[in-house]
Amino acid sequence: MRNVVIVGSGCAGNTAAIYTARASLNPLVAAGHEPGGQLSLTTLVENFPGFPEGINGPDLVENIKKQAQSFGAEYVSGSVTEADLSSRPFRLNIEGQRVETRTVIIASGASARWLGLESEQKLIGHGVSSCATCDGFFYRGKKIMVVGGGDSAMEEASFLTRFGSEVAIVHRRDEFRASKIMLDRARANPKIKFLTSTVVEEVYDAGKGVVTGVKLRNLKTGEIRDREVDGFFLTIGHIPNTKVFRGQIELDADGYIVSHGGARTSVQGVFHAGDVQDRVYRQAITAAAAGCMAAVEAERFLEAEGH
Ligand SMILES: Cc1cc2nc3c(=O)[nH]c(=O)nc-3n(C[C@H](O)[C@H](O)[C@H](O)COP(=O)(O)OP(=O)(O)OC[C@H]3O[C@@H](n4cnc5c(N)ncnc54)[C@H](O)[C@@H]3O)c2cc1C
Repeated sequence: MRNVVIVGSGCAGNTAAIYTARASLNPLVAAGHEPGGQLSLTTLVENFPGFPEGINGPDLVENIKKQAQSFGAEYVSGSVTEADLSSRPFRLNIEGQRVETRTVIIASGASARWLGLESEQKLIGHGVSSCATCDGFFYRGKKIMVVGGGDSAMEEASFLTRFGSEVAIVHRRDEFRASKIMLDRARANPKIKFLTSTVVEEVYDAGKGVVTGVKLRNLKTGEIRDREVDGFFLTIGHIPNTKVFRGQIELDADGYIVSHGGARTSVQGVFHAGDVQDRVYRQAITAAAAGCMAAVEAERFLEAEGH
């Protein structure tokens, strides 16, 4: 019987592991399909406090893990493939390993939607990004492209005009899902150009290891052309990793965990941390802070239950 199982080994899960390990709760962390989480996809992180020169994403998240291990946190590889949260103790299946636990901290993140092009995947962290707040700063005076047609695309494109010499929004349709106010704001911005009925077929240049441009296809005319781009941002949504908890805890229409105050979910003893619940901030520091909150709540819950 475990006191706490933490689902996910990104910033949120690893921080929850530090706190629960230091509280002598001997946490078990299921690392998931992406050990280290989203930060393992990126290169330089310049906005995590405490690193004046910046730090590589994979090093940052590995350091947090090592810190947790130094206090006794245990890590297992693999994902939680089944969860029974209907009664306590909760029962989890971590790829065949069955675990019973008094509390669960869900820190399974939300994965960015990508176009799925091979060239795009190779260039994530080298000019391809899903986070304008994180990476916009690297493209001062450069050519930026944003893919998407919703409010986030308009918001991120407007934000990116602070840095880029131009921001081209590529959208596969003529019409936008974005609200009128967001669209009007983007249209009024002289730095933003719209490329509608257009799709990206390739991101150049995987051979050089850095984004230099894209191949575009106009869906109406069939015209194919290349365009120079330095920063390529995807804003086509995120998928919260909550499939395994569907029907067990309250999720919103998009699958994000609904918070019941602090780090609490709809099930007592099950807590949320990080991007799996946060669709607004999505930052390493906010995920780490949420991991701390979930750990403190789990600790108090166990204390109140006499453990
Ligand atoms: C390219 C890129 C660059 C970024 N740059 C920055 C930056 O510069 N600064 C910044 O502050 N933020 C940045 N971010 C955002 C930041 O990475 C996220 O906000 C942060 O990683 C969220 O942490 P998390 O722990 O909530 O989730 P994640 O990092 O997504 O981690 C989720 C974890 O859950 C695991 N998991 C999923 N499903 C299961 C399951 N069923 N069982 C077990 N485990 C599971 C995964 O394997 C993973 O380990 C960037 C994101 C990306 C994609």
